[in-house]
Amino acid sequence: MLQGLMMKRPLSIPSILDYAAEVHGASTVVSADPGGQVNVQSYHDTRQRVLRLANALCEIGVTPGDRVATLAWNSHRHLELYYAISGIGAICHTINPRLFIDQIAWIANHAEDSVLFFDTDLADLVLQLKPRLPAGIRLIALCDEAGLPSGLPDGTESYETLVAGQPADFDWPDLPETTASGLCYTSGTTGNPKGALYSHRSTLMHAMSIILGVPKSFGVEQRILPAVPLFHVNAWGLPFSAPLSGSSLIMPGPRLDGPSLFDLMDEQAATIAWGVPTIWTGLIEEMKTRHRKPAKLHSLLIGGSAVSEAQIRTLEDDFGIEVVHGWGMTEMSPVGTATRVNRDQPFTVPVSDKLKQGQRLFGVEMKIVGEDGTEMKSDESEAGELLVRGNTVIADYFRGTEERDRTFDQHGWFRTGDVARISRQGDLTLVDRTKDLIKSGGEWISSIDLENAACTCPGVRQAAAIAIPDETWGERPLLAVVRAPGPGLKAEDVIDHLSNMMAKWQLPDKVLFMDELPMTATGKISKLALREQLARPPGDRPGTS
Ligand code: ADP
Repeated sequence: MLQGLMMKRPLSIPSILDYAAEVHGASTVVSADPGGQVNVQSYHDTRQRVLRLANALCEIGVTPGDRVATLAWNSHRHLELYYAISGIGAICHTINPRLFIDQIAWIANHAEDSVLFFDTDLADLVLQLKPRLPAGIRLIALCDEAGLPSGLPDGTESYETLVAGQPADFDWPDLPETTASGLCYTSGTTGNPKGALYSHRSTLMHAMSIILGVPKSFGVEQRILPAVPLFHVNAWGLPFSAPLSGSSLIMPGPRLDGPSLFDLMDEQAATIAWGVPTIWTGLIEEMKTRHRKPAKLHSLLIGGSAVSEAQIRTLEDDFGIEVVHGWGMTEMSPVGTATRVNRDQPFTVPVSDKLKQGQRLFGVEMKIVGEDGTEMKSDESEAGELLVRGNTVIADYFRGTEERDRTFDQHGWFRTGDVARISRQGDLTLVDRTKDLIKSGGEWISSIDLENAACTCPGVRQAAAIAIPDETWGERPLLAVVRAPGPGLKAEDVIDHLSNMMAKWQLPDKVLFMDELPMTATGKISKLALREQLARPPGDRPGTS
């Protein structure tokens, strides 16, 4: 084979910020802190701070391959951590602060995090977590010295003190492009969370393919508000694609309610925002109250859960905000598909097409297979399990998985657990899910975890959790319970019991008692039959209370 004679420079995350600082140095990162104070800094200044932080990380002993955790909202400091940690060859491990404390402790230990950066409003959580974190972990609060909350464990430092006094120059090491850069755990359907370990290469490839695939969001004239958190799959890649394309970023901090988002978007002239459908429900309510949209907002990218027709119509017809629908997964960096809207002719894609999950991005290959693994037609006539492969898709989980056969097919394609139709033009339409999960407000609740926890409650003989549609959250859990013989168990008893084992938002909205649960021929609980049964009017469901 004749080799091409071109240089091979490794794709690297810090090169994005170096480029942005030079070419798009005046574009800004706006950041609202928990108290609503706003910080504005250019990409040029952001890079200076990142270089100082890189020096600080080396000084405190972070070395290549170390996992450095964050428990933090969307802010300029969190963005700086993304670049400095990966730039020195360590791994930025973002943790979801909304998880139950047991899960956070499990994840931090599995990753063997050596440092934890956290936002000060999460100090209580960190205090509770501390005895269960890896021994010797260094705690750094994302504030200045004066902002350090009292009562933190001895030795907790402030971010600004750490960075101050460090030189603003740093030679990024020449890392192979396959070096790990980021780590994000996803709740598996069974067992413990699993880590997707991104590389510099996959991150760059993803950033470039979303700029190509969602062009309306990017460019020096765009001011993007990531309502999707930086702790959830790299805020869908925006920390990389925005600086690369010169778009400014508006970081909303923890306040994602409708009024706060509206004010920030309005004051900071946000043109685009990305987030899950639930977030936009709050914004829409606020827009209805004020009879207008935030001044410059022209488009929303909505993903993580299916967007409803009503939401698209309200945004587009009532407020003139164009919707782009996207689909992806933590294991895919995450964006896989997006609606292709016409940049110059907005609102020309019919709503029926926007209800589909969009067209595949460059580099993401898709196929659908039947139960026996045979490939099905890609002409939208058949639905099957969706499998993907590409440079932005995991090849394994961090520290492997015992369920390799359930995760990949024999050719190495990744099983998404989604059931879909695909078209010859690369359109994706999700129709169902094979994974036993409930997605509430963009976050997962494992039905299996819920059922296992419920079965430890005295008086419960059997339990099954299913998703029920919910206007605000997309889906909410319903728990069907068969009582064990004995004194009458009440719904409150089950909820009280579960409260000790799950986060509040993961608790079922409803506990329904049934005489028996529907079973499949092989003796498993039939979720399909259960969903059908519970979709009937209450009077038509014998044996439930
Ligand atoms: P994210 O929430 O960032 O998409 P997750 O890994 O948490 O990433 O969830 C991925 C899963 O979420 C998909 O496999 C699919 O089941 C569901 N999902 C994501 N986007 C959509 C969408 N647009 N429509 C329906 N389901 C979606």
